[in-house]
Amino acid sequence: VVKQRGRGHFQLYCEEMDKNSNDLLVIETGLRRAVENNELNLFYQPQIDLSSSKTVSFEALLRWNHPTLGAVSPVRFIPVAEESGLIIPIGEWVIEEACKQIYMWNQKGYKDLIVAINLSAKQFQQPHLVEMIESLFETYEIDPNQIEFEITEGALQNAEEALAMIKRLKCLGVSISVDDFGTGFSSLMYLKQFPIDTLKIDQSFIRDVLTDQKDAAITTTILHLAHNLGLSVVAEGIETKEQLEFLTKMNCQKGQGYYFSKPVSHSEIEENYFM
Ligand code: C2E
Ligand code: MG
Ligand code: MG
Ligand code: MG
Repeated sequence: VVKQRGRGHFQLYCEEMDKNSNDLLVIETGLRRAVENNELNLFYQPQIDLSSSKTVSFEALLRWNHPTLGAVSPVRFIPVAEESGLIIPIGEWVIEEACKQIYMWNQKGYKDLIVAINLSAKQFQQPHLVEMIESLFETYEIDPNQIEFEITEGALQNAEEALAMIKRLKCLGVSISVDDFGTGFSSLMYLKQFPIDTLKIDQSFIRDVLTDQKDAAITTTILHLAHNLGLSVVAEGIETKEQLEFLTKMNCQKGQGYYFSKPVSHSEIEENYFM
């Protein structure tokens, strides 16, 4: 459609594009208020040790309930938060909320659990990140062994800065995982140089691991690589018993996925895992 604009000039007008940019605006505007309006929430997804079948950790995953849009997926709003810089306050809210939750769980006597927290690339580049985390650990009496930070390969592109940040985080005593491993800027150099603890095999490789030879080869190779480098591995997106059996046979340490549990609220975690 060609619409006439002011001063007799014409502009190509695409309804689809307009709708998307409207949505984007609604999301960005809404996100600005989300923290103060109490619209954010953390869900937790169990991570299972595949040799003992025990739940050993929980990944914190952000949920947003928008007043008119309803539940908005992080797949949609996290990129907007990154783009607009809102990921900084939102990311800080996530870390504080996870620390509060661990504090409350510790108070109730559940002391050995580990929570994995996602850090976006922008957050990871914030010079004050480490001080902020350190002060939250103090406030909520967090044992750093209870925290794992998940970063994506995109956060590692500026190798020098990334290495310095990882070292500072490791000095606090937390663990570091590389999330969505294999989907981004996969350089063997950082596996050699960076003191990371865990690789998370992306769910896109796990989905067809039984039927697609390439996915099977990639998954197997990541597992060998991790084992040979002394890194631990989490397979993401396990949905079937057959996928689980394949991964167990390949000595994958941990698994996460709908087969075990979807991400659930903290109270469901307490009901199902803290008995
Ligand atoms: P991720 O960190 O790779 O998290 C795993 C995603 O896979 C989650 O989606 C989870 O619900 C989903 N998932 C888990 N098991 C299965 C399965 O068996 N099958 C399928 N199809 N999906 C499964 P979710 O919660 O929608 O989050 C999407 C992404 O948004 C996350 O991917 C992460 O990149 C980002 N995200 C979520 N919370 C945060 C956060 O607090 N901070 C930051 N920076 N990013 C976050
Ligand atoms: Mg993650
Ligand atoms: Mg992932
Ligand atoms: Mg992912």
